[in-house]
Amino acid sequence: MIHYQISTYEPSNGFVHIQMRFKAETNSPIFLQLPAWRPGRYELANYARNIKNFSIQNEKGEAIPYDKITKEKWALQSSVNSEITVSYGYYAQLPDAGNSFINAQLCYINPVNCMLYVEGMQHQPCEIKLPLSASAQVACQLPFDGNSLHAENFDQLADSPFFISANLQHHSIQHGNCNIHFWAAGEVAMNWEQLKLDTIAYANIQEEIFGALPMTDFHFLYLFREDVFRHGVEHANSTVIAMGPGKSMTEPLAYNDLLAISSHELFHVWNIKRMRPVEMLPYDFTKENYSKLGYVYEGITTYYGDLALVHAGVWTQETYLKSLSDDFKKHVNNEGRFNYSIEDASFDTWVDGYVPGVPGRKVSIYTEGLVAALIVDLYLLKQSDGKHRLNHVLADMYQLTYLQQKGYTKELYKELLEKWSGQNMDWYFQDMIEGKGKMTKHLEAAIAWIGCELCFAENEQGLLNCELKIKENQSAAENLLFKNWLNLTA
Ligand SMILES: [Zn+2]
Repeated sequence: MIHYQISTYEPSNGFVHIQMRFKAETNSPIFLQLPAWRPGRYELANYARNIKNFSIQNEKGEAIPYDKITKEKWALQSSVNSEITVSYGYYAQLPDAGNSFINAQLCYINPVNCMLYVEGMQHQPCEIKLPLSASAQVACQLPFDGNSLHAENFDQLADSPFFISANLQHHSIQHGNCNIHFWAAGEVAMNWEQLKLDTIAYANIQEEIFGALPMTDFHFLYLFREDVFRHGVEHANSTVIAMGPGKSMTEPLAYNDLLAISSHELFHVWNIKRMRPVEMLPYDFTKENYSKLGYVYEGITTYYGDLALVHAGVWTQETYLKSLSDDFKKHVNNEGRFNYSIEDASFDTWVDGYVPGVPGRKVSIYTEGLVAALIVDLYLLKQSDGKHRLNHVLADMYQLTYLQQKGYTKELYKELLEKWSGQNMDWYFQDMIEGKGKMTKHLEAAIAWIGCELCFAENEQGLLNCELKIKENQSAAENLLFKNWLNLTA
């Protein structure tokens, strides 16, 4: 067992104090590792820059010498069965969905930022003792015994952010075998009953693909801010979503956006947290986990996050087509699509995936991945007269990989697309996944199959507007496919 203890005795200076205690298992050198990145953001993070006052002691309180051997790895010498305590301060002042943040009201910790693990002992259970006042509530996907959170191993600990606060709002609703919790930190105006209904509606659509939510409790951890902000991060049985301004969440635009990000993160429950590229199984926290499959784990998730909302009737057809038009606008205005394939972009999230990057260099796995997913979904619908679609491919892939404790590959994805389309899919991979600058013409063709068109117009900023419109002369066959696509016949 690895024991962690968190204290926030000085929230005003922004530091949280962390202790880790464990027993040495051998006389060999011990290596302590801080994760170099966090799943969900495929770039190196440099969390070690937030650590101050690092020290290591034995059971007598004597300092143990150590050596830093990489930017986030420490080595020390000890003897078997000696008890080792590692202490440090961690600067927690980033209130987004993937970092950690403390102030007088809230202690929000994402363990992957700030908890070390002992090399070779990652499989051991972890206990995290929390700083609790009498009125504090704890929001986390891990079991909580009144004092401590308990994780089965370091992987689970690293995947389990938590809020501690006396000011949390908590709402929940039972959905089948899963209790869905909504926790809110920060000031918010929200129609909670509506949010519960809408969440269940889009969850139902996602469950049609993969089966019932695979947990007994799922937690939405909403961090509401005063400024305009939007960021979400997925976890196995929870998600953290930082949004703002919290006071606007009853306004249709802001509320629809909250639903969009929430639906996206819920879809990740299956698509990345369980079904995962083979190269990320398991995650390696010490270095880059390169994958060229970002169009599956982010692209398909981005596509289905919004599609589930219109299928559920939570979004109107108009809202959905407007949202797609905005995505297409990003696509056609990015010259990077002539320089980089979506595979290149996925590999290179580790280089510049989360910054604008130099002009015309790269594309987004989210936007291009959504377009690639839409094209293949429409292709499957067209080839099968509306009977098959990307849902079937994903359901198969989930069965063949996660449920058999395997990861997926590009080859498997292609094989399943060919199974459900009955066609050779070389064209799709050559142009959409490996190719550069060829996606727009396929998008226009796919949109035409459903009797729609893209209307381009230059706007005042010199950018192309790209509006997705239903053609006036949409044929009956096109209309049928259109309705199939949006699930309007169900
Ligand atoms: Zn995502």
